[in-house]
Amino acid sequence: MRLLGVKNQLKSLVNRRMAVTGMLLVFAMLAVMVTSIVLTALDRVATYANHLDEERSRETLVGAVQTFEFQLGSTLNDYAAWDDAAVNVYTAPDADWVNSNFGDMTFESDLFDVAIVLDQDGRPGMAYSDGKPIENNARGFLPHDLMFLFDQVRSGQSGPVPQALGFVRTVKGIGAAGVALIRMKSEPVEVAPQARRYLVFIRHLSANKVERISGAYVLPGLVLAPPSKRSTHAVTVESPSGISLATLAWSPRVPGDLSRQQVEPLVKAALILVAVYCLLLFIIGNSVVRRLRADEASAVKLARTDRLSGLANRDGLHVLLDQSLEEARGDGGDVVLLYLDLDGFKEVNDAYGHAVGDSLIRAVSAGLGVLVGEDATLSRIGGDEFGIVFFGPESEARAIAVAEAILDFFGEPLTLGERVVAVGCSLGLAMSHEGRIDGGELTRQADMAMYASKDGGRGRWTAYHPQMDEERETRNQIAVDLRAAIENEEITVVYQPVVDSATFELVSVEALARWNRKGHGAVSPDIFIPIAETSGLIDRLGLSVLRQSLAQLTAWPGLKLSVNVSPGQFRDPAFTSHVAALFHETGIEPQRVVLEMTETYFIQNPERARTVLERLRKIGVQIALDDFGAGFSSVGYLRQFGFDRMKIDRSLVQSLGEGHKAVEMLQATVALARSLDVPVTAEGVETEQQAVNLRLAGCDQLQGYLFGRPCSPEDIDALRLRPMDLRAKAAAIAFGHHRATDRPI
Ligand code: C2E
Ligand code: CA
Ligand code: CA
Repeated sequence: MRLLGVKNQLKSLVNRRMAVTGMLLVFAMLAVMVTSIVLTALDRVATYANHLDEERSRETLVGAVQTFEFQLGSTLNDYAAWDDAAVNVYTAPDADWVNSNFGDMTFESDLFDVAIVLDQDGRPGMAYSDGKPIENNARGFLPHDLMFLFDQVRSGQSGPVPQALGFVRTVKGIGAAGVALIRMKSEPVEVAPQARRYLVFIRHLSANKVERISGAYVLPGLVLAPPSKRSTHAVTVESPSGISLATLAWSPRVPGDLSRQQVEPLVKAALILVAVYCLLLFIIGNSVVRRLRADEASAVKLARTDRLSGLANRDGLHVLLDQSLEEARGDGGDVVLLYLDLDGFKEVNDAYGHAVGDSLIRAVSAGLGVLVGEDATLSRIGGDEFGIVFFGPESEARAIAVAEAILDFFGEPLTLGERVVAVGCSLGLAMSHEGRIDGGELTRQADMAMYASKDGGRGRWTAYHPQMDEERETRNQIAVDLRAAIENEEITVVYQPVVDSATFELVSVEALARWNRKGHGAVSPDIFIPIAETSGLIDRLGLSVLRQSLAQLTAWPGLKLSVNVSPGQFRDPAFTSHVAALFHETGIEPQRVVLEMTETYFIQNPERARTVLERLRKIGVQIALDDFGAGFSSVGYLRQFGFDRMKIDRSLVQSLGEGHKAVEMLQATVALARSLDVPVTAEGVETEQQAVNLRLAGCDQLQGYLFGRPCSPEDIDALRLRPMDLRAKAAAIAFGHHRATDRPI
């Protein structure tokens, strides 16, 4: 729960930091975008304003040039369509009149500066320029383009008015020119075509005229330039036949540039302000990000720490392991992972509560911390699991030394306040040579090795070996098949006779489970019972044996029954009620049944064992301590838990042949049991001598191949029908007994 809280907090911190960083980025991008948009807009406005001004100047100039030409046109019309002129040219030709009215007018005139009269063949008659007659070079003022205009007028192609206009180049320069037929203004006068005369006026675009246009039309810097000089701010002057004569170019005023120059400092100031604002925001944002990052770092640390012990937790271990492996890959060192699981922690927790459980963990953590020392790292990876990472030189040797020291440490009971608790531990060791095995696999191997320690009887360390995987695989397969076998009711029960040691009469049978695994044959209970215990199948298997044997017992009145019970079955809270229900179903009196249990559970869970025993006693069933002499074997348990019977283990019985010591120990043990009023059964009795000695030692019941192997119910039926067989055996032994006492066994 707490770890989840830390993880969520870390997640939200990371999210917040990303959000702030994202916002800063977006903001910076926006600032860059706004700046570039503003600058681009400014540029566009300037360019557009420039362009607009250029267009307007061009239109104005085109208009000015046209006006220049039209003015000449209307002047020419005034002079050519003039009654006086027609009279003085055609009716009563008067050269003086013509000279003074046309030629003299060219002097310092603003309207035209060249006047020429042409005859029908285009030959110049009168010719004046700037008030002076042109002596010999009238042709210089009559270029090809002018003669083109003349032809138009002469041939009548110029339209209803016999007049044509256009720009031409003369010896004097570029000018507007016009050709018109001299005629009456009031009425048309018929003049023979041969007699017709034409008036030519030219108005040159002199420098001062250009200057006047420049002033009048506000086109600064207007100049007349050669036609080759094309420019965006210039207008081309063309002849009537379409030849470019010159260009009129003006200096652009570029109002856009001017306005831009005006606005630019302001815009720049504004942008600088925005930049300063962004910078401030960035600095603030950055410090926020830095603070979030620091929070994040401490949250990460917290997420990798176990609160109870202050050690690294599973995540912390993984990070550390990955780092160590990385280093090992670099420098060719070894990484060793030691996995440790407490044995009996859950029971302490259940018996004394979580507060005691917590202080046990703290005490163990502190103790382990001292043992592990500085050159390895200890972490708590689960409720009662610890991981220790060793790296650097001689990792393996150091890990083994620490493992031994830890086992020694757990050899002594721990004192927690007023309580003394005994917990053990199982260790698994796995090594990654040069970091070649990755963290996940190394963890799996250490875990596997640790379970091998547990299976091997706990309180030991085991190094991982690849064979463990195969064994695990085989065990898994067996577990799968066993589950199916239990479901299909393929677990059968055989019964081994138990006889009275005095009379050798059959008094009881022990129910033993049998499994014929399909495709593999019979599997020993020594193999499938432990697998059933570790894979959670023992509850159903145990109840199945109990059900079958109780049902069988109804056919054997007067006989007692022993049934084995695994410690694993005690963990099921409903165990006792299931047992009670089976007695109810079969109608068997509970007094006829003995449940056999080994001492391991009583050592590990004294409190729990006591409560279960009490409940079973209430049902009325008897409890036997099985396999006495195989393990710790303390007679103290007999007293402590008040067993109804004790069974001496086969190994002890078989050691009888080894000498006096064994005999004495057996005699003392049985005597002690009897002094506590606990009857004793000896099992594994194979020889007559053993039978004799066990009877002498005080065992009231015997069990073993000597009296019968575990067998089918039918075989038990046969034994019951022919009790003579056993009695004969008893007689033989009685005879042998005298010999046996002659010689000590
Ligand atoms: P156990 O409770 O000690 O059962 C006695 C074992 O000793 C049986 O082995 C039996 O065949 C064997 N035995 C009896 N007399 C002799 C003898 O004279 N010589 C030798 N060499 N062996 C003898 P089994 O049937 O293979 O069972 C092995 C163990 O499996 C049992 O040991 C018991 O701990 C467990 N087991 C068997 N059936 C069940 C069951 O239904 N439930 C539980 N929880 N455990 C069972
Ligand atoms: Ca037994
Ligand atoms: Ca036994």
